[in-house]
Amino acid sequence: MRSNFHTHTQRCKHAYGDERDYVEFAVKNELDILGFSDHGPFPDHDFGLRMDYDELPDYLSAIDSLSAEYKDKIRLYKGLEIEFHPKYITYYKQLSDLFHLDYLALGEHMFTDSNGKVKNIYFAESTDDYIEYAENIAAGAETGCFAFIAHPDLMFMNKFEWDKNCDKACDMILSAAEKYNIILEFNANGIRRGRQYFPDGMRLAYPDERFWKMLQGSRQPVIIGADCHIPEQIRDSAIGIAEKMCMELDLNVVDTIF
Ligand SMILES: [Zn+2]
Ligand SMILES: [Zn+2]
Repeated sequence: MRSNFHTHTQRCKHAYGDERDYVEFAVKNELDILGFSDHGPFPDHDFGLRMDYDELPDYLSAIDSLSAEYKDKIRLYKGLEIEFHPKYITYYKQLSDLFHLDYLALGEHMFTDSNGKVKNIYFAESTDDYIEYAENIAAGAETGCFAFIAHPDLMFMNKFEWDKNCDKACDMILSAAEKYNIILEFNANGIRRGRQYFPDGMRLAYPDERFWKMLQGSRQPVIIGADCHIPEQIRDSAIGIAEKMCMELDLNVVDTIF
């Protein structure tokens, strides 16, 4: 079965194409399932690079009408990729209950540190931030509100050498995934960024093989996510590379999050 549960649209202001463009490309490429997971808004704060809160009903009804129109060709799901912040626990539940979302992907870009300050993992100050980042992910996993953890190794896009904090953060994320039975996403978007120079050598920013090797041969479910920001990325060469990497790493790849 061909599926993708990590799909953005132009509503997030840094992707191209509307919902229809993604559905049409997915149908043309024989996907059985397409899950939309555009960057989710918060009701009282705009963290940027996401749809406006007021746009949520439009986004969902666009997917609903395409779902009906294409029902013989593809199965669509309504989701959001959204950060976990402790203060929004009731909001995550509301998203599913009031807005009838099919799933939430825990995509931690911004996170809350122990002083309540919101930080961005793209600009970590040191690997100490990785620990607080991992704590947020683990706390999000514990809520049971999220179907999968998007790019759980995103922190390794920072240019720091591997140290004890890296081991600890990986362990916290992997243990939480196992304990709370949550899928981990092997994210193809990092592959599209190509290999880059890091203090510990040339490698992909993410997926980071050092993280995934810790799962080698385990039964932990892993889903490959296109994380497409243009329709063609639903099925591009990065997906093929991700599939090959997962096979070589002997990961337990699943094709659905349900
Ligand atoms: Zn994005
Ligand atoms: Zn993301």
